[in-house]
Amino acid sequence: MVDLYALQTPVVLIPLVVIVSLLVGSFLNVVILRLPIMLFREWKRECSTLDDNLPKHPALDDLDAPYNLVKPDSHCRNCQAPVKPWQNIPVVSFLLLRGKCASCGTRIGWRYPVVEAATGLLSLVVALYFPWGWPLAAMLLFTWLLVAMSVIDIDHQILPDSMTLGLMWIGLLLNTQAMFVPLESAVLGAAGGYMALWSVYWLFKLVTGKEGMGFGDFKLLAALGAWLGVGALPIIILLSSLVGAVVGIAGILIMGRDKNLPIPFGPYLAAAGWIAALWGENLMGWYLSIL
Ligand SMILES: [Zn+2]
Repeated sequence: MVDLYALQTPVVLIPLVVIVSLLVGSFLNVVILRLPIMLFREWKRECSTLDDNLPKHPALDDLDAPYNLVKPDSHCRNCQAPVKPWQNIPVVSFLLLRGKCASCGTRIGWRYPVVEAATGLLSLVVALYFPWGWPLAAMLLFTWLLVAMSVIDIDHQILPDSMTLGLMWIGLLLNTQAMFVPLESAVLGAAGGYMALWSVYWLFKLVTGKEGMGFGDFKLLAALGAWLGVGALPIIILLSSLVGAVVGIAGILIMGRDKNLPIPFGPYLAAAGWIAALWGENLMGWYLSIL
C-alpha cells in the first residue's frame, strides 16, 4: 500500500492530476478512434487495392474531406449531431446521458468512459509514486501513450510508428539527463528491446512458419527499454509473456477463441512496461531472491 505520509507529491495536487488525466483520457479516445483511420486513409491513397482489409468508416470513403485529431468536431456517428461541451465531460457526461446520444438515442460505446476512467486511475497511481516535477510529468505522458497504443492495438492489431518511435525518442531524450536511468542503459535498452523480440519473431517463424507478433511490438519494447533501461527488459518480457499466455489460453478455453487468430501483444508489453516503471526494482529483487 501507498504510505500517504511518505508521499513526495503534495496531497492537494493529486486531485489536479486526476482531473487533468480524465480530460486527457477523453482526448485519448479521439486519438484511438482517429489515428488509425488517418493511417488507413494515407495507405488507401497510396494503394487502392487495400480496401478489403480496412474497417468501415465514412472518412475512408471520402479521402478529400478533412480528417485529423481536431477536425471534424466530435459528433454522433449515427445522427451527426455535434457533441456539446457539457456532453464532453469525462465519465460524467456518459452517466448523465445514460450512455445514449441526446439527439437520436443511439448507444454510446462503453469504451469512452472506460478509457477515461482507466486513464484517470492509472494517472492517480503514477502521481502517488512519483514526486511532483518533471519525472511525474514524463511518467504521466508515458502512461497516456501506453493507454492509447494498447487500445489501438486491440482494435486494429497495429501500433503506429508515430507513437512507438515517438515514445522511444522521448525516453532517450529524457535519459540524456538520466531522468530514470543513465543514458547508456537507455540506449542499450532500446537496442536490446528491439533485438530481443526480433529474435523471438524469427525463431517462432522458423519453427512454426507463422508470424507470432508484428514489428510494432519490437518498437514498443525498444521504447520501454529507452525509458526504463536495459535492466528492466527481463522483467518486462517475463511479465508480458506470462500475462499474455494466461489471457491467451483462457481465451481459447473459456471463450472458444480460434487459436490461429492473432493476439495483439502490445497491450501486454504496455502493461508490463508500466508495472516495471512503478515497481520494477521490487519485482526484480523478488525474482532474484527466488532464484
Ligand atoms: Zn445521435
